[in-house]
Formats: sequence, structure tokens, C-alpha cells
Amino acid sequence: MVTQDQFVGCLLGLSLGDAIGAPFEGGVIERFVWKLIGKTRSGKMRWTDDTQMSLALAKSLIANNGLDPNHLAQQFAASYRWSRGYGPAAAKLLKKIKNGKDWQQVNRSTYPEGSFGNGGAMRAPIIGMFYHQNPQQLLKVAHASAHITHAHPLGIEGALLLASATAIALESQGSLEIINGAAVNCKQKPFTTRLKIAQEWLQNKKYPAADEVTKNLGNGIAAEASCVTALYISLRFLDDTFENMMKFIIECGGDTDTIGAMAGAIWGAKRGAGDLPLQYLEKLESVDHLNEVALSLYDVSQKSC
Ligand SMILES: [Mg+2]
Repeated sequence: MVTQDQFVGCLLGLSLGDAIGAPFEGGVIERFVWKLIGKTRSGKMRWTDDTQMSLALAKSLIANNGLDPNHLAQQFAASYRWSRGYGPAAAKLLKKIKNGKDWQQVNRSTYPEGSFGNGGAMRAPIIGMFYHQNPQQLLKVAHASAHITHAHPLGIEGALLLASATAIALESQGSLEIINGAAVNCKQKPFTTRLKIAQEWLQNKKYPAADEVTKNLGNGIAAEASCVTALYISLRFLDDTFENMMKFIIECGGDTDTIGAMAGAIWGAKRGAGDLPLQYLEKLESVDHLNEVALSLYDVSQKSC
């Protein structure tokens, strides 16, 4: 039986991973900017676009008892804030939607095949939670939700992987069941090759160092270079502490906020909010709001799926 504590754990884990990873993301300029704006006035850790878009997705699913792509596109655009560290392509796209352009026309305006970044995957744990009882619908909605901003097949495949991994983690399965169950939804080589490596490490209880993980699985903003990494790290640390998982993610470097968000969501879905580190939760912004949204997502999901 999936519990409310797991839903809260998933959303808080996502936000906490995002906020803890954010100061270490990007180059010198990005880090300097985050030094200036990474805390609220009361000194709490701010989260980034990963949490902002996940919240918008959760609220849209709650309002519509499921996915309404037009409503969701409007929510993404309305909740866009430059200070949440959106990537330049996503920012451009969301501003166009905000100015009245049809999302179905602008989602291929920067990249003709659509974006292959990890933005569709970073919010996919929300789909995994909402549709955990309905795997077929989960895949359909994960695809449609990613398509709004990340229409490239690799961007979509990342969303399928993260949504299905979250749903399986909620069922309290072990790390091998989670990765094997989620991997069947990936068909493209950049994913299948990396998944095979991660499956072998988990299966044979190998614990490669951070640089080897980065070299083999990636740590970039492309979905193919971060989704398997996040899934693998969350499973490797499933019986360890959230803090140790985040230390390892920071050591791996690269897109630390999104890898932190994706790994944090899976870890939190399996372990529940009760296992998240209190000393960090106390420093995170808007915990009460995140809590409320997760609980209402739980209620609506129980009734509509
Ligand atoms: Mg971010």
C-alpha cells in the first residue's frame, strides 16, 4: 500500500535534492549568481526550475484530475521565473507561451526535433506518483507531459524512465526490481547502453568512484547524460542516508541540481518523508506548501486513477 508519507517524501526529496545540488551546478558565472540569489530573505535554501515545474505539473494534475496539456503548458508559462535558473532554451519557450503563442508550435522552435534536455524527466516523478496504479496511462502521460517542452525522443525517453522508476519505487521494490522494471521502457541506445552498465554495477554490488560513474553514465543536461546517472545513484544509496547520496552527486558534478532532484525523488518515494534529513528540511524553503501539494496529489490520485 502506497502511503501519503511516500508521496510527501518524493516531492520533498525532489526539492531537497534540487536545493542542495543547486550551488554546485554550472560554471563560474552560474555559481556566482546562485551565491547571490540562492537563499530566501529568511536564509532558507531556494530550489530551482526543477521544483517549480514539478509543482506546476502537480497542481495541473490536481486541478484537472489528470493531464490537460494545454492547461499544463499555461501553468509552466505562468510559473516561469528567471530567478529559478531555467535553461536558456526553456526560458525562451516559456516566454513565448506566456505571450500567447501555441505550445505545439513553439516546442520545436529552438531545436527542430525538440529539446533533448532533462527538463521533461526532472518533473516526471510527479507523473510516476499520480499514475502509479496505472502503468499504461503513466507512460502515455509521461510522454505527453515531456512533449510540451522536450519533444525530442531522447528527452521523452528520460521522462518515461523517471516516471516508471518512481512508480516502482513507491511499491517498495528493491533496487534491481526498480531499475529492471523501468529499463524496459527505454529503447534507444544512449539509454540502453548506460542502463546495462548501471544494472551490472547494482547486480554485482560494485561501487565505482564518482569519476567512473560520470565517465560511464554522464552528468550533463542532456536527458541521456543524466537520467540513468540519477536513477543509478538513488538506487545505490537506497539503504544509505540522503546526505551521503547528495555528497556523491556533488562529487559527480555537472548538472547537480537536476540529478539531485531526480535521485531525491526516487529515494524519497521509496523511503518516505520520515527518512529525509530534518536538519536540511528545516533549511528548505516552502516545506509546508510542498507538503500540502503532495498530500492533495495523493488524494486526487487515489480517486481518479
Ligand atoms: Mg534547475
